[in-house]
Amino acid sequence: AAKRAGGNRMQVFSDEMRVSVHERIAAEQRLREALAGDREQTLPVWFQPIVSGETGQVVGAETLVRMRTPEGKILGPGAFVPAAEETGLIVPLGEHVLTMALRHLVAWRDELGYVSVNVSPRQLAEPDFVPLLAGLLARMPGLNPARLVLEITETALLGSSADVQQRLEMIKSLGVRIALDDFGTGYSSLTWLQSVPADVVKLDRSFVAGLSADPRKSSIISAVLWLAQSLGMSVVAEGVEEEADWHALVAAGCPAIQGYLFGKPVPPAEFAAAHLHRSRMATTP
Ligand code: C2E
Ligand code: MG
Ligand code: MG
Ligand code: MG
Repeated sequence: AAKRAGGNRMQVFSDEMRVSVHERIAAEQRLREALAGDREQTLPVWFQPIVSGETGQVVGAETLVRMRTPEGKILGPGAFVPAAEETGLIVPLGEHVLTMALRHLVAWRDELGYVSVNVSPRQLAEPDFVPLLAGLLARMPGLNPARLVLEITETALLGSSADVQQRLEMIKSLGVRIALDDFGTGYSSLTWLQSVPADVVKLDRSFVAGLSADPRKSSIISAVLWLAQSLGMSVVAEGVEEEADWHALVAAGCPAIQGYLFGKPVPPAEFAAAHLHRSRMATTP
């Protein structure tokens, strides 16, 4: 719209904005090429451990997508997920991530409790999402669907349509669990939690970091933990980097933790070597 406006209005395009429009187009092009290539190479799926608060033992893993450029550089999701959401390419990208996550869950079924996968609102808006999910699960007989967790951000859920809410109920009726991601960033009220069909609440890093040195933060965390758990939801604290924060979370009763303190996101082979029991894995029939 701005380019149609004449005269002075043209100046709303700063040099930085021109660069960012150009970059968005380049990002879309890169993404199309990556999706057309050997996706396991071009769009590798990495895993970060989620551990038990008390014991530090690995209970699950979050699936986090990366992009490998033709030059071999690894890009984080910030460089291509927004473009994927805008163009709808998040739909094939999301299907790839979900397929890879389930494949690894099956391979690691004896040493890993669950995998969680980020799902964007654009994917949930797709009428084919639930049939896709049901189809993938049907190909994994004997796998408890509760071992798959879909992460949806608080902000996505706050503005969601009746269609999306109905789809969430269908996902739950498949037995798949739902996590409310980035909780604490979306200006929701605490009472709103009771209307959300989530099984897990993930406390955002901004909410958790520096907790041990900030009495107000720890009061809020204690209140959220109490509320979530009295609603029958589990809690994962995200972005834990400091040992002192870990101990403060355990003292507050937080059941599960994710963060660099226990491990960064890494490729699957590295994840298995660092966090799973390879000897047991080798003897699994
Ligand atoms: P998220 O779902 O909140 O994922 C957690 C992010 O925090 C990850 O960043 C992770 O590497 C980072 N993180 C974990 N622990 C720590 C810590 O201790 N310190 C710090 N500084 N950071 C930590 P990442 O991998 O860059 O992903 C960023 C976001 O991109 C994710 O945030 C998620 O919203 C999105 N994303 C990633 N993979 C996918 C995907 O497959 N599909 C969709 N739709 N979104 C994805
Ligand atoms: Mg997440
Ligand atoms: Mg998160
Ligand atoms: Mg986050």
